[in-house]
Amino acid sequence: MGTSDQIIMACCSDIAGQVRGKGFPESDLPTRLKRGIGWTPTNVMINCFDVIADSPFGALGDLALIPDPNAGYIIRDAGGEPVEQVMLGDIVTLEGDPWNCCTRSILKQALRRLDEVAGLNVTAAFEHEFQLLDSAEGASGDSGTAYSLGGARSGATMGRRIFQLMARNNLRPDTFMKEFGADQFEVTMKPSDGLGAADQATMLREMVRVAAAEGRRRATFTPIRTPAGVGNGVHVHVSLNDRDGKPVTYDPDTETGLSEAAASFAAGLTTFLPSILALLAPSAISYLRLTPHRWSAAYNNLGLRDREASVRICPVTALDPLAIARQFNLEIRACDAAASPYLQLAAIIHAGTEGIARELAAPKVTEADLSVLSAEELAAMGIARLPTSLDEALKLMAGEAAITSWFGEEVVAVYQAHKRGELAVLDGLSPEDQCARYLEVY
Ligand code: GLU
Ligand code: MG
Repeated sequence: MGTSDQIIMACCSDIAGQVRGKGFPESDLPTRLKRGIGWTPTNVMINCFDVIADSPFGALGDLALIPDPNAGYIIRDAGGEPVEQVMLGDIVTLEGDPWNCCTRSILKQALRRLDEVAGLNVTAAFEHEFQLLDSAEGASGDSGTAYSLGGARSGATMGRRIFQLMARNNLRPDTFMKEFGADQFEVTMKPSDGLGAADQATMLREMVRVAAAEGRRRATFTPIRTPAGVGNGVHVHVSLNDRDGKPVTYDPDTETGLSEAAASFAAGLTTFLPSILALLAPSAISYLRLTPHRWSAAYNNLGLRDREASVRICPVTALDPLAIARQFNLEIRACDAAASPYLQLAAIIHAGTEGIARELAAPKVTEADLSVLSAEELAAMGIARLPTSLDEALKLMAGEAAITSWFGEEVVAVYQAHKRGELAVLDGLSPEDQCARYLEVY
């Protein structure tokens, strides 16, 4: 600390799901922690293709991005020299108030609302799937490597490095494995509090990119590489605690194991899933992944141990009651890494909180293959096919008054304009070509 030859990057995870920021000399940290770095409102309209959509802000306005020393990481080379220092932060107005469109502040606000409405807070964890490009040895990508030791070996150096980077930066590694798809891997983290989990998801994506680049490969989190291919999902695990930190998701006396609060939370999720999908799976090609029989999610259903359910009650491996209560959680599978983890988790928490506020009853757990049922049969079960395009998802989002009440009109308008601009870039491109465009940027 205190040297001026190191750069700290103050960063945010924006609407495009990109980490953007500015660097300053490490020696300036004490002042930057107070005053932040200058930020421009129109930055929020830079989409994932670096095209600025029609901005309500134009060239006007100034903001500050204040780095949070508790939400950072340092990556060191073999000699111990820092090669990358990042601090995530909050965007504030010049008066020091949270900026409406700051994704991290939006999540903090969602967490506050859950506390106000229900006296609850969340424990969360993000599961990430990604694929390696430029595979030097081509060891995987061939058939026979799904979940295999051989497949894991092909990414072992990277996997060890990812775990090392996580552990050295207070992220707790959970699992690393060779996923089903060609050159596809998965890394999971142990759970933490809501804000911490989104901070960690943001940081972990970057750590994976760095670890892959060290092996001269590129990691992509793109939702899907080709229309017929395997999807790269983000699965968000959430459980509820009371203000004393006691886990309250589990009730051994209910059929599903969900407590009353957790059942209403789940009902809020399934009810609002179609209209928050544009925030959870926000690219045009996300909708190629969210189709039946891909182990992703295609309906707004609650499933028990069903990997096609968009909201899944996860199995527990613990045996004693307290450990079960702690482990019991809901997994939201209709997410991908084109989204900012902050917006993803904020939308999930708002939807769940709305379910609690409206005292919604537990959704019926589905067991069938929903894709073989007719629209009438689904409707009778209270289930809908999730939107099948970003355009449709954006329309549902814009039409849902609850979403405007959670996020405010400005955020909804900015989000819609941003995403409409992204769709305009893709206009006329085939699904294959759209996949190719997103592969360049995620
Ligand atoms: N790749 C699947 C997805 O797109 C998930 C596979 C799994 O881990 O169950 O979400
Ligand atoms: Mg997986």
